[in-house]
Amino acid sequence: MSKPLMTQVSDAGESRRPSNLFYMTRLRRPLVDRAEGIYLWDQNGKRMIDGSSGAMVVNIGHGNRNVLDAMKRQMDRVTFAYRLHFENEPAEELARRLAAKMPGDLDRIFFVSGGSEAVESAIKLARQWAVATGQESRWKVISRFPSYHGGTAGSLAVTGDLALTETFAPQTRTMPKIPPPTAYRDRDNLSMEQRGLRYADMLEEKILAEGPESVLAFIMEPIGGAATAALVPPDSYFPRIRKICDKYCILLIHDEVMTGAGRTGKYLGGEHWNCRPDIIAMSKGIGSGYAPLGAMAASRRLVGPVLDSGGFQHGYTYAGNPLSCAAGLAVLDEMERLGCIANAAAMGDLLKHELEALAERYPFIANVRGKGLLLGADLVANPETLAPLPPARKANQRLVDLAYERGMIIYSRRIRGDGVEADNFMLAPPLIITAEQVGEMVGVLDDSLAALATELDL
Ligand code: PLP
Repeated sequence: MSKPLMTQVSDAGESRRPSNLFYMTRLRRPLVDRAEGIYLWDQNGKRMIDGSSGAMVVNIGHGNRNVLDAMKRQMDRVTFAYRLHFENEPAEELARRLAAKMPGDLDRIFFVSGGSEAVESAIKLARQWAVATGQESRWKVISRFPSYHGGTAGSLAVTGDLALTETFAPQTRTMPKIPPPTAYRDRDNLSMEQRGLRYADMLEEKILAEGPESVLAFIMEPIGGAATAALVPPDSYFPRIRKICDKYCILLIHDEVMTGAGRTGKYLGGEHWNCRPDIIAMSKGIGSGYAPLGAMAASRRLVGPVLDSGGFQHGYTYAGNPLSCAAGLAVLDEMERLGCIANAAAMGDLLKHELEALAERYPFIANVRGKGLLLGADLVANPETLAPLPPARKANQRLVDLAYERGMIIYSRRIRGDGVEADNFMLAPPLIITAEQVGEMVGVLDDSLAALATELDL
């Protein structure tokens, strides 16, 4: 999720800057001045490595000239035309290009401006499809706990994070949840594949407990993002999930907001397992930070009945905005020209290898995981038992601050889920990173971990 960096570092002076803005916390950050490639500079000229691509957004890197030029060309033509008055070429072309990248028959694209809107749209399309096909009793969308799917009412209902949902529970419906496949934490005699099946079977148990006729869909990230720090499921998980969804005629929604657009070394995270979801929500990397852009891809089997029954009762003013779509098209071109997906796979392997080497040296790092350039690890008190660090030590926040002081942005949270409690951090630099820059990241991380070890006596 797009939580701001919880840093108190570099705040000196900044916190007294008068401002009418507010975000999620009182903490203030330096003003950003400019950005290029994998780096950002603040107003004082301090250079930062963007080790998390913002919030896993800037997949093609900052300041890409070709994207900026394409956007300028579009700006000179038209920047807004309302979808009820005009079609526009960039939206048509981007829909065509994205559809070609989707699995199966998911060739219908609906544009939005961000990830929450994409998830919201997926949930509403699923519900309207059920109504249009005489399945009014189906409305529940099962999701996982912990998870993050967005901050709007519908997406919050499927988000599994009490810190974000509890206050709003009276205003949103809390949907049923199952645990994500944190198989790497389990201490039993089962193989990873057996554990994967066991986690998938929890979906069936939940469907039966809720009443299959009331369940509409299951939403999940193919590789867990913010809430589970790059959680990769065992290979057995997906085929069983698809089978269960088919058995009970339940739609499978993949939230690829973070994992899509090449982040994991494939265009979609689900491609690692040849997944066949019914709906895909995307955002972040498809606009790569150049313009607000999100998209929902859906099977024509779903869209047809909805459009035939009076139309999709849903839409946003900025949907299919020509400038955002022109940026999205140029981002796709640049991803291809720069070989971002292959680079994400290769540099991801290298960075993961380096992270594993750091875990050998710092025993409080456990469970290095992830694919491509969506990597994560836990910070633990005991690597054998995986006992969490006491929350009062704020290890995750301190690691962010120490890295920030040393010139690198990393993404870190403390997860609280069903029986799981862990500080974690994620590394997710732009997909254009070079091997030398991976070395630079690892050097800063090494220094920051050494400082954390000293400070927290780990
Ligand atoms: N889904 C996932 C998996 C996310 O990671 C996020 C944001 O972090 C969202 C949805 C919501 O996206 P946005 O913040 O663009 O609304």
